[in-house]
Amino acid sequence: MKIIMLGAPGAGKGTQAKRLAAKYNIPHISTGDIFRANIKNNTELGNKAKVYMDQGLLVPDELVVDLVVDRFKNPDCANGYVLDGFPRTIPQAEALDKALANNQDAVEYAIDVDVPDEVIIDRMAGRRACLNCGATYHTITIPPKKEGICDICDSPLVLREDDKPETVKKRLTVYHEQTQPLIEYYSNKGILKSVDGTKTMDEAFEEVVLLIEGN
Ligand code: AMP
Repeated sequence: MKIIMLGAPGAGKGTQAKRLAAKYNIPHISTGDIFRANIKNNTELGNKAKVYMDQGLLVPDELVVDLVVDRFKNPDCANGYVLDGFPRTIPQAEALDKALANNQDAVEYAIDVDVPDEVIIDRMAGRRACLNCGATYHTITIPPKKEGICDICDSPLVLREDDKPETVKKRLTVYHEQTQPLIEYYSNKGILKSVDGTKTMDEAFEEVVLLIEGN
């Protein structure tokens, strides 16, 4: 099963992607997580990506596409994957289609988690992340058991640089300009499904599963 999650930053697509990956026993591939791991490990890719990420800009396509296509070669991708945060531009989507078509393969579902900008700005202000293991929380909707501490690895939680309000506004502008056109791209291919991301995480997940299994 090959699934793409679409939606603005903060729409909740990461949470839905992780749950889908667990339900269908396929890997969750988040390009944002891959970049953050590279930043943490001080790699050349991480240092290049950080310059863009901290400004709320997209990392250039050429730094992203090969990374993802290489990741598919891993045996854990044999039964599919959930892509979270990729593709984010039309050229990335075209590159993905081309790479899959080379193996007579294609994306099956593109799921758009739809949330208005105002709701996103409110949500992101409460988002907290563990830079050690990548877990994310929300001060109100998904609080950690111990305030400011990751449930999984006990590390301190932070408001990520790219979740700060000024950066969020920039990221939303970038989303509307560069990523939103993918909705039409996948709609034209007949594989777009939309869910209302203002619902609770559980309700939205139920809707996503129905959309996939109702097909
Ligand atoms: P995310 O965790 O998916 O919100 O990604 C965090 C940041 O990583 C984004 O704001 C971008 O700067 C960068 N990024 C992640 N995925 C991509 C992608 N597919 N193309 C370009 N930049 C990306």
